[in-house]
Amino acid sequence: MAAYEAVIGLEVHVQLRTDQKMFCADSAAFGAEPNTNVCPVCLGLPGALPVVNGVAVELAIRAALGLGCRIHETSSFSRKNYFYPDLPKGYQISQFDRPLATDGFLNVPGDDQAESRRVRIRRVHLEEDAGKSLHDRLPGATAVDLNRAGVPLIEIVSEPDLRLPREARAYLQHLKQLMEYLDVSDCNMEEGSLRVDANVSVRREGETGLGVKTEVKNLNSFSNVERALAFEFERQAAIHEAGGCVVHQTMLWDAGRGEARPMRAKEESHDYRYFADPDLPPLVVAREQIEATYGALPELPQARRRRFVEQYGVPDYDAGVLTATRTIGDYYEAVVGRAHDAKAASNWVMGPVLQAVNERGLDPRDPRSFLVETAALAELMALVADGTISQNVAKQVFQRMVESGRGAQQIVEAEGLAQVRDAGQLARWVDEAVLENPKEVERYRAGEDRLLAFFMGQVMRKSRGKADPRQTNELLREKLGTS
Ligand code: ADP
Ligand code: MG
Repeated sequence: MAAYEAVIGLEVHVQLRTDQKMFCADSAAFGAEPNTNVCPVCLGLPGALPVVNGVAVELAIRAALGLGCRIHETSSFSRKNYFYPDLPKGYQISQFDRPLATDGFLNVPGDDQAESRRVRIRRVHLEEDAGKSLHDRLPGATAVDLNRAGVPLIEIVSEPDLRLPREARAYLQHLKQLMEYLDVSDCNMEEGSLRVDANVSVRREGETGLGVKTEVKNLNSFSNVERALAFEFERQAAIHEAGGCVVHQTMLWDAGRGEARPMRAKEESHDYRYFADPDLPPLVVAREQIEATYGALPELPQARRRRFVEQYGVPDYDAGVLTATRTIGDYYEAVVGRAHDAKAASNWVMGPVLQAVNERGLDPRDPRSFLVETAALAELMALVADGTISQNVAKQVFQRMVESGRGAQQIVEAEGLAQVRDAGQLARWVDEAVLENPKEVERYRAGEDRLLAFFMGQVMRKSRGKADPRQTNELLREKLGTS
């Protein structure tokens, strides 16, 4: 088979973190009783008038600036007309020919299998969500919940710059991380706060034109995006190889079967009869607002990752883990500030700290998930640094800290975990270990150096792990004589 490459462009819907809906004062919260957060505006009752939610506009500007977009001081809302049971007005208010923002980019770092890529962002626009059809609520019937109708979204449309399904996944991971850093959305994928339409076409390697694409709708997990794209790539490549033509259509992904199925012929924009919404004036944002929002952007994840490498001298891999969420990064920086050993702090955070968060299924974006306070971890690290406890004992102490909320010093004292550094006591354990194992002594003296570790193990057992390893090592060498 000739070599084909995939050409991928993604449309991502991100639900904005607002209290109220896009054009009315109803709550935008997830999970309320069906059809309780509704009013004449989002139900599309005659005569009801939409009013733009300024908080949503501000969040959209922040998201677009984080993506390096140009913000347009004047944009406008249009009606996208179509019929669907979860769309009570018969149209969705969206931005069409004059979007809020255009011309951004997102850098997607590479890995061992893919190069890094700069993906151009075509546009970021505001729109409202539709309601939800519920197929499992009434036996044999479909119900509709309009709580979500009118909830504010941004749609982030990329240029077709991605080439591999795994790159698409990496793009989404970085996009999600960016949105979380910017605090514009909770990006909760189970609740549908981030949904993806994946567009893909196939062409022979070396070609530069674009082939006919299909669009897989409403994917709600990154692994489904990757799988759906891989499936479509194979399917389309086989069609090309057989001399056929790919049909321009919209597909649905069936995760259970691992296949994409045609849903409908691809609609063109003229099918939607877009026109300017007569109820909404143009959206005008002041230059000062854009500049103020820009000035207040937080440090973004990729910049923070670079800074961690430069400022703390940790490996890039560590920096990637430590900046995965804003909260992890904040936690790490607070620990370093107190413990002054950047690499040791990194090992603690990447290891036991995040393990404790993950094991409990806690959210690494939420500061409350970090059960050991940064000062308490620094105290524990100080006990290791001054030789009071070994690294291994420290890990056990950390577990107790997580479980009990007690401090390191307190646990070490109460449970007698401090290392034994008393020379007399250490010498007694060393003597015993040597007397009890004459054969090993002979072999060691005959040149089997590695048996030192065996004796070390014996002393550790006798001391229940508390013998100071450096002193024990010296005493053992003295006692055994160098081989
Ligand atoms: P449509 O009008 O069919 O929705 P758009 O031009 O608006 O198409 O693009 C929608 C998304 O599809 C964008 O993310 C874009 O990058 C991507 N896209 C457009 N053409 C192609 C193509 N030939 N192959 C792959 N992706 C494409
Ligand atoms: Mg589309």
